[in-house]
Amino acid sequence: MSKTRRVLLKVSGEWFSGSNEKGFDKKTFISLSESLVAAKSKKIQIALVLGGGNIYRGRELTSLNIDQVSADYIGMLSTIMNGIALSNFLSSNDCENSLFSSFAIGNFVKAYSKEEAERALVEDKIVILVGGLGNPLFTTDSTASVRAVELNADVMLKATNVDGVYSEDPKINKEAIKYDHLSFEEAITKNLKVMDQTSLCFCRDNNLSVRVFNADAEEAILETIINENTDIGTLVEL
Ligand code: UDP
Repeated sequence: MSKTRRVLLKVSGEWFSGSNEKGFDKKTFISLSESLVAAKSKKIQIALVLGGGNIYRGRELTSLNIDQVSADYIGMLSTIMNGIALSNFLSSNDCENSLFSSFAIGNFVKAYSKEEAERALVEDKIVILVGGLGNPLFTTDSTASVRAVELNADVMLKATNVDGVYSEDPKINKEAIKYDHLSFEEAITKNLKVMDQTSLCFCRDNNLSVRVFNADAEEAILETIINENTDIGTLVEL
């Protein structure tokens, strides 16, 4: 029997705000929920790690003289707000899901455990992971790579607002080349804007491939979830 495909999708908070600077965008929620429902019907197990940039990012607050560690606590709490919103939205659209935070929060968001998250995946629920790693000084990219390895995901999908990884910033240099495939070594040594170096090294050391793609491209979320051979975006691998 072939193994059920399991993916980890990292969605930035910024994407949740659509064309607004902050907050939630209804169209984005609808399109994400439709893609998840369609992917689930193909029996794919999906875990999401959510960012928090549409509410607060730690580094935005340090300019207010809030120290980095406290600012990061606020950043992590922002990801939890996103999780509560998305979980509720999916439930009201008949998309069964389980929300877990890295740390217990009140009695309304369960604390993450690998076993419970895996059980939810096997029960065909979308697993939503928030609260980052529960530690300041990390990012949700690092969270996504750690959880992907922990949960034995086949691939980490990183939804962004660019079409993939480029040799240079394509907004600055029109000649910049988009990579279809890229090795971790190249991404790390050239400091390409894939994700932070901590997460890149972690993915390399654990042989976890990462597909970086544009979440706004038509059907891209669904296609990258269901099709392991898709050519959308850039695949970063060993
Ligand atoms: N954060 C943290 N530890 C973690 C993950 C996240 O302290 O393990 C904080 C950090 O301040 C970060 C914020 O949470 O800026 C939101 O995460 P991120 O910036 O990665 O969100 P995104 O840019 O993807 O929306």
